[in-house]
Amino acid sequence: MLIDGHNRVVDYLRVSVTERCNFRCQYCMPEKPFSWVPKENLLSYEDLFKFIKVSIDEGIKKVRITGGEPLLREGLENFIKMIYDYNNEIDLALTTNAFLLPRCAQKLKDAGLKRINISLDSLIPEVAHKIAQKDVLATVLKGIQAAADTGMKIKINCVPMKGINDNELIDLLEYSQKNGYMIRFIEFMENKQASDLAKGLSSDEIQAIIREKYNFKKLERSGSSPSQDYELENGYKFGIIEPHKDDFCATCNRVRLTASGVLIPCLYFEDAMSIKEAIRNNDIDKAAEILKLVLKNKPEKNKWIDADGGEVSTRAFYETGG
Ligand code: SAM
Ligand code: SF4
Repeated sequence: MLIDGHNRVVDYLRVSVTERCNFRCQYCMPEKPFSWVPKENLLSYEDLFKFIKVSIDEGIKKVRITGGEPLLREGLENFIKMIYDYNNEIDLALTTNAFLLPRCAQKLKDAGLKRINISLDSLIPEVAHKIAQKDVLATVLKGIQAAADTGMKIKINCVPMKGINDNELIDLLEYSQKNGYMIRFIEFMENKQASDLAKGLSSDEIQAIIREKYNFKKLERSGSSPSQDYELENGYKFGIIEPHKDDFCATCNRVRLTASGVLIPCLYFEDAMSIKEAIRNNDIDKAAEILKLVLKNKPEKNKWIDADGGEVSTRAFYETGG
């Protein structure tokens, strides 16, 4: 079992397989980065898998593939199958913008993928276009349907932004409810890559909008989910991810690996360590040692925005995988 320096069990590994993306979401990657990590600096699937095996052997029970846009990396289904074949009890999940799902949802399911989280910020084509800076909505909706047709469990992620999609939160909730998906609204997390136009809504503001139409109650927090869940009177549950709230980090069970082999203990904490050399040298003991050291130094709370007017994190969501 992996325990961090603050006695939290860490059993969830998020693996970013690429920082590249086919969207340019305003809150994440509004401009193409000045330079991408050169391909030779990325870990191969075989090397990423070596580290995943170490992590599973040490106690990781959930692996989420993310990015950038993970479906841009060729052969993702083979990578998923490697993990599934190693341990088919691992909760194996993917986070995607869904644009490429119409052609690969079934392959991913067949490879062993169990669950998909899909980003959907608007149901209005022009607004979705404005956010992603590309005409994406029709294809994204087809992608969501393709994933649903495979029988995989789907969650929708939406980042509400002032003056952009805040008038659609009820529509997005109703779309998700009608289709049997849970929706989670994510408070916008400030970061230096985001567009200056991106201004998020707080959890209280999101709740006030939903309360204009629906009564709902707050549910007990379950396990280490980052989401605070709420329940409408008809039983439908939705979530709000509230990183600005004080207790957000208390049950954190996550560690993140970037595509270039950097192991990050917390989204908003500058310290991190590379496992690339250890893994490329097949030094499995060293990789396990680095994993434990990173967890020992995992901060108790994120340091992503300094209330005294300090720096906003420079870490890019497309690099860490969100
Ligand atoms: N490209 C995939 C996608 O968009 O689902 C996976 C990577 S993306 C970085 C993972 C998640 O991070 C998405 O749900 C996205 O909405 C969220 N995200 C990105 N930037 C964010 C920000 N500044 N604040 C809150 N959530 C953010
Ligand atoms: Fe790409 Fe996902 Fe970031 Fe949007 S949120 S730019 S889809 S990585």
